[in-house]
Amino acid sequence: MRIVLVNIPHPAIGSRIPKEQLPPLGLLSVGGPLLDDGHDVHLIDGELGPMTLDTLVEEVISLGPDAVLFGHSGSSSGHPIIARTCARIATALPHAAIVYGGVHPTYFWREILAAEPHVTAIVRGEGEETTRQLMAAIAGGTPLAQIPGISYQEDGLPVATAQAKVITDLDAYRIGWELIDHADYGYWGGKRAVVIQFSRGCPHLCNYCGQRGFWTRWRHRDPVMLAAEIARLHRDHGVEVFNFADENPSAGRKPWKAFLEALVAEDVSVTLVASTRADDIVRDADILHLYKKAGFERFLMGMENTDEATLKLIRKGGSTTSDREAIRLLREHNILSMATWVAGFDDETDASMWRGLKQIISYDPDQIQALYVTPHRWTPFFRLAEDRAIVEDDLTRWDYKHQVVAISGMSPTRLFLWVKFVEACAQLRPRAFRRWVWNPDPKIRHAVRWYYRMGRRVWIHEILGFLRRPAHQRNLSVGEWLGAPQDHEEEANVPARSRRSLPNVKPAA
Ligand code: SF4
Repeated sequence: MRIVLVNIPHPAIGSRIPKEQLPPLGLLSVGGPLLDDGHDVHLIDGELGPMTLDTLVEEVISLGPDAVLFGHSGSSSGHPIIARTCARIATALPHAAIVYGGVHPTYFWREILAAEPHVTAIVRGEGEETTRQLMAAIAGGTPLAQIPGISYQEDGLPVATAQAKVITDLDAYRIGWELIDHADYGYWGGKRAVVIQFSRGCPHLCNYCGQRGFWTRWRHRDPVMLAAEIARLHRDHGVEVFNFADENPSAGRKPWKAFLEALVAEDVSVTLVASTRADDIVRDADILHLYKKAGFERFLMGMENTDEATLKLIRKGGSTTSDREAIRLLREHNILSMATWVAGFDDETDASMWRGLKQIISYDPDQIQALYVTPHRWTPFFRLAEDRAIVEDDLTRWDYKHQVVAISGMSPTRLFLWVKFVEACAQLRPRAFRRWVWNPDPKIRHAVRWYYRMGRRVWIHEILGFLRRPAHQRNLSVGEWLGAPQDHEEEANVPARSRRSLPNVKPAA
């Protein structure tokens, strides 16, 4: 079969910066096994340029595919664009199968199939094996009902098959790197870059996060094989920067240490960027020299809040003490720390924001990234927030970078001003500049310079975006707008080929 994988252009600022685009790992992960099955696979990456929707649709049509596969790492925020693109391709290519996978369709399959009858099937959960089976069934004209992990229309009703098995051997499915030209992708100041993944899932239970639900349990790739793949991409394709897609690659100390040692043994000069938990950094205090030697230049650590009561509410499981210590330890090894700080848990007041700012400065991270709590309906936090009013009904902005739910103690404008003020204070401290200028490592100086350049651009873009945003038009709660909760527990109870009633309210598209 001729199969086209489509990465849509996203309106987020991160998708609009030339030479700072990363390849779509999810689509490449599905593409590799399909190539191995003998399909004629192509990738059209609408983020490059970025393409207009017209160009993207024309390119897909010109390939004359039998099947067109969609997925986007932005998931909910990518959905409205995927829906528009799907509809146009389905009209132009009525005989092509349209397949849609990712986090958002996994938990919105009923609504999507009802609103978009041209979608042939939705892949729920991780996609490698399910997509292989689905493409084989479509090519052979065999019934879809036998394939676990999909949803489709039967007699005009959305139906779901049983959940697919969790992939236990992540190395059994290779990434289809040949689908891209590495020269098209860059990050970290225009350096050639890819996204890579050591593990899937997370053993922790933070209630605003869907990692555990979507991936089910924490699993990792073979440490030595991943190190060899990184070295090969560096030597054969000149890839310099590897951005880990994992939320928590270091959850298991033993495999993580084995990976670091294997990469050090490969002796390649690469830049590694990842997210992890502050607790893991503290746990690994005795092997942080290996982190540095392997090439780690920055860790993003989800601190989420500096308030112990809020951390308890969201079941973060960490503590302000380990957050502070992790930053100190990373600095000791000249690895940058980026702290995420999440606003909108509904306990904010002027006093708490001021307290939070003072605490962030006392933690002294190299970089901070302010985000807004986003109650996706597949997270336990949805149930805590379902009665709160929405202040953003454009799904493309449900990307953690926009406030989407109201808080009781502060208007959106006031919260926005506080967030921008916190970011400016944290990033423009003389101490942060001094560290940049006097840093002995030229790679770290480059990284900090690049981050300030990007930060300035994003900061101004976000202020202009806030000022120009359309007025909020709906008076709905989160639950009224997004429908009933649908998280992993609910999804696990989907019996084979179940017909499901549709909630009353469909998501805005
Ligand atoms: S927020 Fe991070 S630590 Fe918490 S469950 Fe999600 S991935 Fe794990």
